Amino acid sequence: MSEKRREKGSENGSEMKGGCHCGAVRITVPGLPEQVSQCNCSLCRKTGWIGGYWHPDDVTIDAAEGALNGYVQGDRMITTWNCKTCGSHTHWTPITAPPERMGLNMRMFDLADWGHLPVTEVDGASF
Ligand SMILES: [Zn+2]
Repeated sequence: MSEKRREKGSENGSEMKGGCHCGAVRITVPGLPEQVSQCNCSLCRKTGWIGGYWHPDDVTIDAAEGALNGYVQGDRMITTWNCKTCGSHTHWTPITAPPERMGLNMRMFDLADWGHLPVTEVDGASF
């Protein structure tokens, strides 16, 4: 692993790879997120979301053209993406939300890689 790659990412370890259930969407990040959060809003509950956040420049989403389905709801701050083939909810990207952050569903990664991180409970239902 090059020093350059290590500088770009977090200081919390080495590259982590994950992806959707069928493998059509593959995700690579330079290391562990600064925090992992579980939110009680309707969307997070229904999609089984546990979020980790990165700068978009640090995230590589590898998917064929048209492999992802975007969903925008409510305040239209973000687009949440799921795999068209297997339905896995993989990530979200900002629309009007601050552009320096995007979210990945930690469930797309092996629990052995991140399961030791503390999970912050977010009361999104009250926002
Ligand atoms: Zn899939």
